Amino acid sequence: MSKAETKPVEMRCGGPADGERATEAVRVDVLTSRDVPLGGPRAMTVRRTLPQRARTLIGAWCFADHYGPDDVSVTGGMDVAPHPHTGLQTVSWLFSGEIEHRDSLGSHAFVRPGELNLMTGGHGISHSEVSTPRTTVLHGVQLWVALPEAHRDADRDFQHHAPEPVRADGAEIRVFLGSLAGHTSPVRTFTPLLGAEIVLQPRAALTLAVDPGFEHGLLVDQGKVRLSGTLVGRAELGYAHPGADALTLANESDGIARTVLLGGTPFEEEIVMWWNFIGRSAEDIVQARQDWMEGRRFGEVQGYDGAPLPAPELPTVPLKPRGKRR
Ligand code: MN
Repeated sequence: MSKAETKPVEMRCGGPADGERATEAVRVDVLTSRDVPLGGPRAMTVRRTLPQRARTLIGAWCFADHYGPDDVSVTGGMDVAPHPHTGLQTVSWLFSGEIEHRDSLGSHAFVRPGELNLMTGGHGISHSEVSTPRTTVLHGVQLWVALPEAHRDADRDFQHHAPEPVRADGAEIRVFLGSLAGHTSPVRTFTPLLGAEIVLQPRAALTLAVDPGFEHGLLVDQGKVRLSGTLVGRAELGYAHPGADALTLANESDGIARTVLLGGTPFEEEIVMWWNFIGRSAEDIVQARQDWMEGRRFGEVQGYDGAPLPAPELPTVPLKPRGKRR
């Protein structure tokens, strides 16, 4: 990792002087978030930008929850009892605080700021997530990645990676998945993906070379950022359509701007998402729910103080596939 800083960084900073690419129009849609209570006695609330009616996926990224900064003495912090996942990976990325993770693979890990924790659910895993007593402010994102058909029954897995920050004039970048700014994450993904935290100094701007086959989403945590010409406010997700070979991020605020850039090749498979499950049909979901409720398939989480979460009732309307929406 330490070699990364000696590599050339594909990054140009601001200004109209940089001709042709900068003038190419990049289509950006702004997606707003909705507040969702996570449940529990004091009900910590998250801001969800994916999935939503206007967009269900960005690459294989299929779920984006953004939370905090929350004073845990007020919100009670995070306490999510053991619950199952299938057909997806979970990504935990914190800006502050600490979360204790336990899963049915036997992993016991502490999720800390600037460190990727990637859990592969594959055929079935269960886990619990609890903010630790050391946490005063909890602030971060929880993201999911849909697994492609060929790998959706993959083995359970848990990976940790602390990317070396890439620094350039006015920006600090942590590439946790994929490649950006001359830095490549060693963490394996099942589809081409990008995930990076980008912090911009006040009024800083940078242009990043990106894969034109990717679509991108820029989640703004703090500040307001102009993404290739379109202003994206706090807690909003700027969606850049595929085809751009560069994205420009300009911090339009007088403070630091913090963002998370997600990307990937458009996910071409239809998926059915319900609760914590991803399948290809309503039958897949019904089976996963039944397996969880009857104690099969997802294993057991050791060391969590409390009962596992029961699955909600299935909806009375049919579960509909999403994706392939272009
Ligand atoms: Mn989970």
